[in-house]
Amino acid sequence: MMLSKLICTARKIEPEMGDTAGNCIFCGEYSENGYIPGLKTNFTAYEWLQDGEIVCPYCNHMYNEQEYRKSMWVVSDKEYKKIKREEVKDLLLNPPEPPFAIYLTRTYKKQGWIRMMNKINYDQSEFFVGMDYDLIFVKSIQLNVYIPLVELLIERKIPKKEVQSGRLSPKSIEKIEMNIDVMKKVEKYANDPLWEVCVWMM
Ligand SMILES: [Zn+2]
Repeated sequence: MMLSKLICTARKIEPEMGDTAGNCIFCGEYSENGYIPGLKTNFTAYEWLQDGEIVCPYCNHMYNEQEYRKSMWVVSDKEYKKIKREEVKDLLLNPPEPPFAIYLTRTYKKQGWIRMMNKINYDQSEFFVGMDYDLIFVKSIQLNVYIPLVELLIERKIPKKEVQSGRLSPKSIEKIEMNIDVMKKVEKYANDPLWEVCVWMM
């Protein structure tokens, strides 16, 4: 299933039908009830578009509804819910019953959902989340390693910027009692986009 259809199903939205047939530029699906794309001048996500001629009714709903880019949300076939940053940790540790999709954002303005269109998740231990235009691969096993370490570093009052970059200042290294094992891990994990999300969500 495509994301736009999952959203409409969860929210019980019956989008208005258009009368142009073709393939949808957002999801790639064929529809007889599409619209001729009327992309606004502030649209910048051209590189993520599919080959197509129309916008299908479901994607048309998503494109015209601002909340999909101006908020973070989680959707499954049973529920659509906006989320706050403080809720992200629990959500990643306990994602909904599949199928589901999770969208996060730092900018609150990018049409990041376009990239998630065919990235509906069917596995609660390995799945994708969208963050602005990035797709981040989440593995539960990895989360269970990253989260306690990020928490420890933040507890020790190490600046988030350093935790994120993996480059700890001499002062921060002192704060972790020059623990080489921790230093090495932080340096290594900092290359993983999921680590960045873990730091951001704390
Ligand atoms: Zn579509």
